[in-house]
Amino acid sequence: MNDIKNIYCVGRNFVKHAEELGNDIPSRPLLFSKPTRSIVQANGGTIELPFDRGEVHYEAEIVLFIGQDVPKSFAVEDVVEKMALGIDFTLREEQQRLKEKGHPWLRAKGFKNSAAITDFWSFPGMNSCKETDFTLHINGEEIQRGNIQNMLFDFKRIIEECNDLFGLGPGDILFTGTPEGVGKVNAHDEFLLRWGEEGKGRFTIA
Ligand code: ZN
Repeated sequence: MNDIKNIYCVGRNFVKHAEELGNDIPSRPLLFSKPTRSIVQANGGTIELPFDRGEVHYEAEIVLFIGQDVPKSFAVEDVVEKMALGIDFTLREEQQRLKEKGHPWLRAKGFKNSAAITDFWSFPGMNSCKETDFTLHINGEEIQRGNIQNMLFDFKRIIEECNDLFGLGPGDILFTGTPEGVGKVNAHDEFLLRWGEEGKGRFTIA
């Protein structure tokens, strides 16, 4: 995780998730960023969250690791070296207050441990991603299920947009958006992230 440089995230990238929060469907990727100190490994440990600042929600997402400078024209397989699953933890009530004022989301999305990430594995290619659902299980129950085919903006579009606006290079990672089913985290919840049938990361909330 020490080689991670920048963290970019896409909001409202699954139509049903945008709808469940009563948000408009964006016409271009809605981008935000997290500080690298928000990273915590989702690898069997315990994760502390700032429950004293309001409701924390989970958002299970695919995380892409960019392995090289991104040229103008590229194939996703050429620039994405690795992938992982992650949770974009969000202080939902704080985010709502910030949205109403038109303020940046940093306080709601960038706190310590707000970017939980499993170990990365080699990017398996677009076809494999289309064939494989990712799921979040909390306390043994499946809570979220997503597939990249239901994304509003696909990996290519997200990478292009971030590259055009910010420039992407080795060590930059992208949280690519969450499917419907987000909700409140409780103390002692047991989280499990799965790629297909394969468990990729588990952890417990303090
Ligand atoms: Zn998210």
